[in-house]
Amino acid sequence: MTHLLHLDKLSAGYGAIQALHGVNLSLNPSGRLALIGRNGVGKTTLLKAVMGLADVKAGRVYFDGQDITLWSPRERARAGLGYVPQTRDIFPSLTVEENLVTGLKGRPRSALDEAYALFPRLAERRQNGGQQLSGGEQQMLSVARTLLGKPRLLLLDEPLEGLAPIICIELMRAFEHLAQETGVAVLLVEQKVDDALRFAPRAVVLERGEVVLESDSEALGQRSDLLERYVGVAGAH
Ligand code: ATP
Repeated sequence: MTHLLHLDKLSAGYGAIQALHGVNLSLNPSGRLALIGRNGVGKTTLLKAVMGLADVKAGRVYFDGQDITLWSPRERARAGLGYVPQTRDIFPSLTVEENLVTGLKGRPRSALDEAYALFPRLAERRQNGGQQLSGGEQQMLSVARTLLGKPRLLLLDEPLEGLAPIICIELMRAFEHLAQETGVAVLLVEQKVDDALRFAPRAVVLERGEVVLESDSEALGQRSDLLERYVGVAGAH
């Protein structure tokens, strides 16, 4: 089977700064992969490099068998990559519905129902301004807007960051439902390691810009020594 995403010895960074060093990684269509590691090890940079938002110094990025290393972010989005940045990509001055409309990319307005079905909270707040939403609702809006573009691969950067436990549960349920129903592949960066390992059957650990471990998630969840060493948390998986 052709991998949906394949990184071949990818080195990337920002200008003179190199944050990723020779990373190899692959993900099958409809696959789920957790990317974990301490702060500053290069997780966001990896997602950005996949999306065309970091400088590639060496190596290649393949999507669905095509070499997309030199493609623009817009071309990658059109090809089926959806990126939800850590910063929650919404327009604060627009309403929920107006924010969602910006994600339609030519699809009919009726497609908004998909977003409201996945996140009923957004339906209840469709006329609220983006800046009036809670952190969790902003995250839902950011995810929903990306999903309206019908990506085949969803890149999620710490979607649970700073959210209340009850909202984290709601979001993880939505991701689970989404992955099962639509078959979208998910590359999940998350500091809440238990949630990440529960969601994705495979996990990759980054340290100082390098892949130091690739493992079955269940097995890794039981290795509190490794989790302590690489992520700084004891596993409770
Ligand atoms: P966190 O968990 O804190 O989000 P991370 O694992 O996602 O961290 P990155 O954000 O990818 O880590 O950062 C990797 C390295 O690249 C860090 O040393 C960081 O300081 C550097 N870096 C990140 N963004 C930039 C940028 N825009 N310009 C220059 N250096 C950057």
